[in-house]
Amino acid sequence: MKKADVVILGGMAGINAGISCRRHYPDKSVLLIREQATVLVPCAIPYVFGTLGEMGKNVIPDSLLQSNEIELIKGSATNVDRPNRVVTLADGQTVGYEKLVFATGSLPLVPPIPGIEKENVFSVDKKYEYLSAVREEVNKAKDIVIIGGGFIGMEFADECRKDRDVNVTVIELLPHCLQLAMDDEYCEEAESALRNAGVDIITSEKVVEILGNDRVAAVKLASGKEIKADLVILGLGAVPNTNLAKEAGLELGFRNAIRVNRHMQTLTDPDIFACGDCAERVSFFDGSPSGVMLASVATAEARIAGANLFSRTHYNKGTISVFSTMINGRAFAAAGISERQARAAGCEIIVGRATAPDTHPAGMPGSSPIDLKLIFAKDTRVLLGGGLSGGKSTGEKVNVISACILHRMTVDDIVTFQMGTHPALTPSPIVYPLVNAACQCVTPLKGT
Ligand SMILES: Cc1cc2nc3c(=O)[nH]c(=O)nc-3n(C[C@H](O)[C@H](O)[C@H](O)COP(=O)(O)OP(=O)(O)OC[C@H]3O[C@@H](n4cnc5c(N)ncnc54)[C@H](O)[C@@H]3O)c2cc1C
Repeated sequence: MKKADVVILGGMAGINAGISCRRHYPDKSVLLIREQATVLVPCAIPYVFGTLGEMGKNVIPDSLLQSNEIELIKGSATNVDRPNRVVTLADGQTVGYEKLVFATGSLPLVPPIPGIEKENVFSVDKKYEYLSAVREEVNKAKDIVIIGGGFIGMEFADECRKDRDVNVTVIELLPHCLQLAMDDEYCEEAESALRNAGVDIITSEKVVEILGNDRVAAVKLASGKEIKADLVILGLGAVPNTNLAKEAGLELGFRNAIRVNRHMQTLTDPDIFACGDCAERVSFFDGSPSGVMLASVATAEARIAGANLFSRTHYNKGTISVFSTMINGRAFAAAGISERQARAAGCEIIVGRATAPDTHPAGMPGSSPIDLKLIFAKDTRVLLGGGLSGGKSTGEKVNVISACILHRMTVDDIVTFQMGTHPALTPSPIVYPLVNAACQCVTPLKGT
């Protein structure tokens, strides 16, 4: 029987947990059991349908494992014998471990809509071969319907329209696309960017049936309307992939995710850790269960898990939820709690919003306008969240907001924030949107 000090089951988060373990414990042997022959960069999956043009450009290279001296077995783990610390693979191979990490990820959510099993209805599975087949069908399609207007559905819609003469319709149950993550003004701007790319968007509508014989021909909405479709993509979220963990007797919690403590150690077995989409998450703000599934969270947890395998090194402060997306050339991003979420939870808040070009002056080449909003708790003046739209720098600006949230910065901290600025690279220091949005909050706070 093969043996390793640390055995990891998984893909992207698994690789990260392995690298973190090697960094902290260079003397320990690490072995990754991975059911995928090739691991895709999950976040760039929509882009193989347009911008990237081919699957081969969207692969996490195995050289990352070699350079970190992580052994790889390609195969599916089918059993974990905890008393004897042995993992069995589908081909009968067995591997012994001292510590085991579950990073088995998530599977796409496929709701029981009548007709969902019809040919040419695809979920967003992260498997290379599956997505290659979807790509071929997308290239032949004339009428694509995307069910779900979250960031994955919107990115797919945008990419499916690139260089293709195809009708694309997004159907969203809520009044706005992106509504679970962003405030209305950004949702509306994103919808309008997607419409400008030639995509139809139908909101406040539920798909009740997928019509056709063996193959999809249309989707039927609750209003009775039928939308022609020869291909359907389901962008409805994901659920933790934890059957193996359950069979191994590990306790599952919220949405059947593996229960872990703040060190990513399972509550059931001190020698088994879990990280990524399969692990249970709690909110940074109040410790309540969080259903957020993001690669950024998965890799942070993986770094924590890998570091804590043989001693307690890192602590998980909970999920802030930071995300960004790009629709038809305009970027949208959010971190923490949106204004809508804060008001729904009954928080007393104060909101500041500022706009500025992301260069100074605006006439510098490649300049884009930024629209940024910050949400502070009224009593403590602590930053709860932020949203923004803008050009490419949006992706890093939202990460600055996340850092401010993580360190519980107040209005006053951000008003006195010292930023580096450059005409070609940043907004002017006079109208720097992060700072100016906080400045908007100072006067009303004084008066209340
Ligand atoms: C289309 C799309 C776009 C996204 N875009 C973004 C984005 O822009 N930003 C962002 O932060 N997040 C994004 N996400 C979310 C992100 O992809 C996930 O949060 C991330 O992939 C989670 O990583 P993970 O390693 O935990 O799980 P997964 O990526 O699901 O990997 C789990 C791996 O474990 C393997 N596995 C499962 N069971 C076994 C077993 N028994 N034995 C061996 N191996 C096993 C699976 O085959 C899989 O390779 C996106 C997701 C999708 C689908």
